[in-house]
Amino acid sequence: MPDIVKKVKIKEIFTSIQGEGLYVGEKQVFVRFCRCNLACSYCDTDFIAENAIEYNEEKLFDILAGNDAQTISFTGGEPLIEKDFLFSFLEKYKQKLNKKIYLETNGTLYKNLSELIDYVDVVSMDIKLESATKEKNRFLDNEKFLDIANQKETFIKVVFDNNIKDDEIDSCIKLARKYCNFIVLQPKMPISSDIELNEIYDKFYKKYKKIRLIPQVHKFLNLL
Ligand code: SF4
Repeated sequence: MPDIVKKVKIKEIFTSIQGEGLYVGEKQVFVRFCRCNLACSYCDTDFIAENAIEYNEEKLFDILAGNDAQTISFTGGEPLIEKDFLFSFLEKYKQKLNKKIYLETNGTLYKNLSELIDYVDVVSMDIKLESATKEKNRFLDNEKFLDIANQKETFIKVVFDNNIKDDEIDSCIKLARKYCNFIVLQPKMPISSDIELNEIYDKFYKKYKKIRLIPQVHKFLNLL
């Protein structure tokens, strides 16, 4: 049973279109948390977040209930760090909100996910590749994570650049085959002029057909 945490610091709450993954183009209300357990080299998250605001459950519920977006995206940072708050909040308010709960996660905090999974509808799980992030590959954690996430609609998103290695491609495909059967390939931003999109796409495609190449669309549209 998680600890009861009724307040949390949130970096920002905003409405926009989802710019990544299989739900690209859908209107969502985003709840962006500040903290993360990783330190990817390309990360643009403001972890200090001096302007972050503390919300209690009631205040957050009022804001989300009054928003006409039908999907709430919990994002970060890594939202699962705030699992005690999220558990308490969603246990009390998920039914009343009557909206889809969409979790954007780095796919490593599987124990936290196991406590929250009942309240999540869609899991968008990044595989953070060492070749792109300079963080160590965490395929074992990713596998434990997918083993739990698999109860719900789940897809894998792989952020890559020209440094992607063949064994990383194989590991991603193995996980997708076993668990969610779909991979979104997302070029690292800003997309470098010499990125070998076709070559990398084909390396996946030769071994695995259920892939889509989808960049961060919101950045092209100058949306949040
Ligand atoms: S997992 Fe996401 S939020 Fe965390 S360091 Fe990596 S890019 Fe940043």
